[in-house]
Order: sequence, then C-alpha cells, then structure tokens
Amino acid sequence: MAGAARLRRLVERDLAGLDPGARRGWWLREALADDPGTPCPPPVRDGTADVVIVGGGFTGLWTAWWLLERDPGLRVTILERDIVGGGASGRNGGFLTGWWDYLPALVANYGPDAGLAAAMALDGAPARIGEWAARHGVDPWFTPGGTLVVSSSPAQDDAWAGILALARELGVADRYVELTRSDVQARCATPQLRGGMLVPSDASVQPARLARGLRRVLLERGVTIHEGTGVTGLRADGAGVRATTDVGPSIRAGRAVLAVNAWAAGWKRGGFGHRMITWSSYMVLTEPIPDRLAGLGWTGGEAITDCRFTNHYFRTTADGRIAFGGGGGRAGYGGRLGHWVEHDRGSTALAARGFRRIFPMLDDVALVDAWGGPIDISSNHLPSFGAMDGTDGRVLFGHGYSGTGVGPSWLGGRILAALARGDHDAPEARLPMVGHRPRRFPPEPFRFLGARVIREAIVAAEQRDDLGGYVPPPLRWLVRVPRAMGYDLGPE
Ligand SMILES: Cc1cc2nc3c(=O)[nH]c(=O)nc-3n(C[C@H](O)[C@H](O)[C@H](O)COP(=O)(O)OP(=O)(O)OC[C@H]3O[C@@H](n4cnc5c(N)ncnc54)[C@H](O)[C@@H]3O)c2cc1C
Repeated sequence: MAGAARLRRLVERDLAGLDPGARRGWWLREALADDPGTPCPPPVRDGTADVVIVGGGFTGLWTAWWLLERDPGLRVTILERDIVGGGASGRNGGFLTGWWDYLPALVANYGPDAGLAAAMALDGAPARIGEWAARHGVDPWFTPGGTLVVSSSPAQDDAWAGILALARELGVADRYVELTRSDVQARCATPQLRGGMLVPSDASVQPARLARGLRRVLLERGVTIHEGTGVTGLRADGAGVRATTDVGPSIRAGRAVLAVNAWAAGWKRGGFGHRMITWSSYMVLTEPIPDRLAGLGWTGGEAITDCRFTNHYFRTTADGRIAFGGGGGRAGYGGRLGHWVEHDRGSTALAARGFRRIFPMLDDVALVDAWGGPIDISSNHLPSFGAMDGTDGRVLFGHGYSGTGVGPSWLGGRILAALARGDHDAPEARLPMVGHRPRRFPPEPFRFLGARVIREAIVAAEQRDDLGGYVPPPLRWLVRVPRAMGYDLGPE
C-alpha cells in the first residue's frame, strides 16, 4: 500500500524528534508556566479532616468542590502523590463532553429510563463548567464548539445512525445535528473526513488549566492539599478512616474518597483490579499553525473524533495548534501502571500516524510534543461509584470513565460528595452507576494476553480499513471476540 509507506516515512521522521515521558506533557507545562500556584507540600504531622480525598485529578477536585458547595463548614483534605493535575486530568484531549454519545451504552446497561436519566444528569454540564470557570477567574480556554463525531473511512460511515435512532425514540433527537460530508468539510476541510454528527452542547478545554484552576479555587475555599503525598492505605474502623502516607504522617477523617483513576486497579483492597483493565492513551501536538487552520476552515473550535474503536481525537488550541490523540494505547499486566503509560514510542507512533493520515496537507508541519497517560477501562465503558466492602460506607470510590472522564467527573464529584455526606436521597446518589459493579474481566494472565492479542488485531484491522485494504475474515472475527463474550469493548 503506497499510503502505508508514506505514513511510515513521516512517522519515522516525527518520532526522531519526540521523546514521550521525558518531561511533563505540554498542557501541564503551559498551565504551570502561566501560574505555578501556591506550594502544597506534604504534611509534617498527623492531621484530621471530615473528608480525606485520595487523588488530585478532576474526580477528587470536583468532589471537594461539591462537598463545600453543600456544606461550606466541612474540613476537606486532598492527598496527591504527584501534583494536582499530574495524572490523566492534566494530560487528556480536553474533550469536555456530556453523555449524549454514550446514550446506547447507558440504555443497554441500565434500561431506557435510568439510562436517559443518567444522560440528562450530565446535560448542559460542559456549559456549566465554562460558567464555573468564568465565575472564578479560571481561564481553561473553554471553547463551546461541540464534539464532531465523524467517519474517517468508509468502514465507519453511519456509525452514529444507531445513536440518532435511539435519541429519536427517547425524544432527545434535538441534542444532535446530523452532518453530511459537505457540512463536515465546511467545518474542517480535509478529504479524509466524511459524514458525521455534531453534539453541539459539548466543549473543549485546556485540561491542565482547569485542574490547576480548581486547585487554586479550592485552596481559597479552605481545602487542605498535600502534593507529593502518596496514600499507602485506608483503614476504616468504627470511628472513621485513617489514611496512611508514604511521607510518614497520617490523616484521620470521618470518610475517605478514593479518586485515583486507573491506579485503583493496584489498590490492595476493593477488588477493583478484576473490574478494570489499565490502559494508556497518547497525544501528539503540532507547532502553532493558525493560518493553516484558517485554510482548513477549522476555526469553530470543534473537538473531532472519528469512529474507530481505537479512535482518533483531535482539536485545536487557543494558540493555533492541533492536539491529536489515540489510535491505540496498551494494556497493563495485573492492573499495573508501568513505563508503558508514559514512555511508549509505539503508541506515540500510532497517534502520529493518525495525524499524518487525516491531515495530508500538513506534511511539512512539525510535531513538537508527545505524552501519554493512564486510562481506567471498565467492562461496560462507564464509571461506577460506591462504598468499598467492609468499610461500613466510610471509604468511597469512583472510577472507570474509560477515557472519557473530563465532563463526567464533574458529575462523579457530585455523586461522591453526596455519598460522603451520607445524602443517599440526593438525585445524583440515585443514578444507576451508583452501586453498580461492572462485569469482571477474566483473571490474569488471560486478561493481559487477551487484551494484547485483541488490541493488535483491532489496530491491524482498523489500519487496513483506513487505507482501504483487505481485512481477512479471521481478523474481523477476532476483533469481535470481546463483544461476543459480553464486554462493551471492541468494534460493533
Ligand atoms: C491521553 C489521554 C487523553 C484523554 N482524553 C480525554 C478527553 O479528551 N476527554 C475525556 O473526557 N477524557 C479523556 N481522557 C480521560 C480523562 O483524562 C480521565 O477520565 C479523567 O481525567 C479522570 O480523572 P480522575 O480524577 O479520575 O483521574 P486522574 O486525573 O488520573 O487523577 C487521579 C490522581 O490520583 C493520584 N493517585 C494515584 N494513586 C495515588 C495514591 N496512592 N495516593 C495519592 N494519590 C494517588 C494520581 O497521581 C492522579 O493525579 C483522556 C486520558 C488520557 C490519558
């Protein structure tokens, strides 16, 4: 395939200048250069709090925010092993979405009424986050351009038809706009993009700016944050919970919230590792090219994703770059998060390859940064929230966003805040993902080996589809094995 040779050549050139994991990703560097923030050193002595939150990503930060919204007098402490936003929250694509593109999964898992209720609970969330930022003087480059879900090869054409049919059935068709190929071209004129649909209520952000902005606002509200503080255990007893740390002092609290994303898979108790596959996703970033974006007509701020299973997601930045991600991350063994989460040149190459395929008119544009981060894949691709067994409701958890948590973590934080306050009648505490345990994955080593084989098969099949190549029937069969086994994973 001539196209394949061209892509190989370009990606080799790109990789020569990229070193993923050598430093923090561009989003976080940009946000820290803008405002490094007040230092939040580790604790020097034992402390107490009403609620202790483990993890300073969006889930933990929004939990703290909602706790104080509901009860301003609460004493809240966040313990973060790295810095706030150092996990996935400061490294993602910045697609700030509701759950409209997840409508079929919500309905399949929880039924039409509860599924629709969940989608409605996030309806308008992107705009509310934008308003929150404006109200608090946070500038996360909020851009209400919507999400454009498009086909980037004939194999993906009409992949959104099922979503639109279901939306009509449920009376929410107005949340979507179906687009012809020429509509799509008018928004981003690259010939690789075909028809699609727009979810106009979605937005995009510079995610690290949002995370660091949340950090500042929470500090101003009196939340205690300790960075560089890894939690080694959460021990519940009749009176509360004790969070022990790797820096010595411990924090005693009435309740604890475990908001550690894919790191939960390695948590000693809770059995999260059985219900989650640790995965990675990688992004690449161009040099600033505002004139070239204008030439493509891509000036409306649309965040674009194609309909591969190993989807490509791409958006513009406030300074006129393209941030482009996806194409195939990697699974970890036994819930571990290793070197492969940040230093994987193979996954970086897949993101670069996607960029080079979709934007052939930008061959001369340099990729100047690349980074990767962890993803918490659950078997139904939806998050779950609840209390850890054996803790008498004192240790709560929320994870499993499966790579789409930027908007949903705002709701996740609200759910966890309600649970931590014991407010089980709050509407958010009654959503169907509360107390729902997604199906277990097979045990190791089958989980890792299965994920590895299927991942390679999906990447190979989708690359062939991209270039109009032949996909042998055994390969087509292999990529459908997870769905045949009842997991909401892999191509439909
Ligand atoms: C490359 C990439 C692109 C993505 N793109 C998008 C996107 O465009 N849109 C979208 O919606 N989602 C996207 N996601 C997913 C999204 O980033 C996550 O779903 C979301 O950030 C989850 O937030 P969180 O707070 O649960 O996790 P995190 O932000 O990962 O926060 C968890 C925190 O816990 C800390 N921690 C872990 N263990 C401990 C411990 N023992 N003690 C103390 N602290 C601990 C970690 O250091 C981390 O900071 C992407 C993810 C990646 C990696």
